[in-house]
Amino acid sequence: MATLPRMTTTAPIGAHLIGGDWSTDAPGGTAVSDNPARPDEPVGEYPLGDAGTAAQAVGAAVEAQAAWRAAGFGFRSRILERAAVLFDERADELALVCTLEEGKTLAESRGEAVLSAETCRYQAGLAKTSTERIFPTGNPGETIRTVRAPLGVVGIITPWNFPILIPVWKIAPALVAGNPVIWKPASNTPLTAVAIAGVFADAGLPAGVLNLVLGPGSVGGALVADERVDGVSFTGSVGVGRGIRDVVTARNGRVQLELGGHNPCIVFPDADLDMAVTAVVGGAMGATGQKCTATRRIIAVGDVHDELVDRLAVAVTALKVGDGQDPATAIGPLVSAGARAEVVEAIDQARAEGAVTVAVTEEVPDGPCYQAPTLFVGGTDLTITREEVFGPVSTVLHVDTEDEAFALANDTEFGLSASVFTNDMWTIDRAVHELRAGLIKVNGPTTGSEIHAPFGGEKNSSGHSAREQGDTAQEFFTRTRTAYIKPGRLP
Ligand code: NAD
Repeated sequence: MATLPRMTTTAPIGAHLIGGDWSTDAPGGTAVSDNPARPDEPVGEYPLGDAGTAAQAVGAAVEAQAAWRAAGFGFRSRILERAAVLFDERADELALVCTLEEGKTLAESRGEAVLSAETCRYQAGLAKTSTERIFPTGNPGETIRTVRAPLGVVGIITPWNFPILIPVWKIAPALVAGNPVIWKPASNTPLTAVAIAGVFADAGLPAGVLNLVLGPGSVGGALVADERVDGVSFTGSVGVGRGIRDVVTARNGRVQLELGGHNPCIVFPDADLDMAVTAVVGGAMGATGQKCTATRRIIAVGDVHDELVDRLAVAVTALKVGDGQDPATAIGPLVSAGARAEVVEAIDQARAEGAVTVAVTEEVPDGPCYQAPTLFVGGTDLTITREEVFGPVSTVLHVDTEDEAFALANDTEFGLSASVFTNDMWTIDRAVHELRAGLIKVNGPTTGSEIHAPFGGEKNSSGHSAREQGDTAQEFFTRTRTAYIKPGRLP
């Protein structure tokens, strides 16, 4: 086993956190977390919980609920402020465990830790701003006032691709609003999750307020089905998300979904090609293409096509693929051999369907999780131009007109992010209003967002879910109540 550096946290490596106690109970057995860059050097062992473990964690959250709510926002935000300090102080060790388990570069992992600190700080500060509204009434002395109450016991289920930041996007606003949390992280990144739970525990969170349960998807299934869980915030694949939505809404719970994407980037003839090429290559191949916002379709308008393809090909061919711990690496391995098999299958299918390969990265290390970034040119008949392939693969499509470009960009079941490269203000205005995506970038990559602005998608990317991040995060984690208040005696 690779030796992890000693964590500053009091969390042991590989344990659930239930009711304030670290537990290595393993009713589902023990599993090993792998390092995709070095498969012969596993990162560490962790216990697998089951439905009983999930139920125990929900029980601990229910027990902690009243006191956490009564503690008030001042107490809660001070804990988040301490967590922010710890995320900053532990950024390097969090980055290392994230890179060991997920494979992304240390710089990408460190960015997640630092933005987690910023998220905690921002959400803590936001708790001190009023979200109440006052309305007049026709009755003398009476006012109508809306208050925000916590949603209740919250289940949080997260993917492996942003194993630090996505959980913190959800956990920080949930906690500060007064909700106790049960968190089920992805099975590929369990030890990163333990390190994060350790940050919150060490920040002084009372027992039972944040509970962590490690295990397979069925543990998440048990959490979702538990009647005591008032709401579930989920980020992951479309199929799993829809199943969760059906179970939670059937029992009148609240659900928030962040699912897949098939994000277009339109490059117009007047685009700055230096800017566009950098953004497209970063957006399509960065984090090994394992971002929900990754650029999956590059739409070249008119005569920009040939030069754009030539320049993208040069940039993709020259990418440096390698171990995320090597500072020279731009693109790490895929998260697992299974994930790579799916990407290879999609690439083979694209070629069989007639996609033309214009670039394949030249230098790629041996190993079951390494995949050469690949760029195709093709048409809308290719499966790869409709279905999300979670890896470093993208396709350039050619259209003649602006109308065709917008129609093609919107011709997808997804609506997470989209970008345009142009200097024309009318085209920009049209993009902002007509592109059906929750996140629209003008002269920027489809990837990346700021933690204080709303984040989320349309169509099958998020359904009708409340937005995450920013002050909009509280829409999901609180309930609005309307109080009519008048004096109890006449003057
Ligand atoms: P996944 O759906 O396989 O797993 C996500 C989480 O759900 C994991 O913790 C998993 O253990 C759990 N899970 C699996 N089956 C479950 C069940 N039946 N009930 C409850 N929980 C269950 O997704 P993944 O492979 O970890 O992540 C990749 C996917 O996530 C991609 O489709 C990507 O687009 C999407 N994603 C979306 C966003 C966004 O913001 N829209 C962000 C990141 C990733």
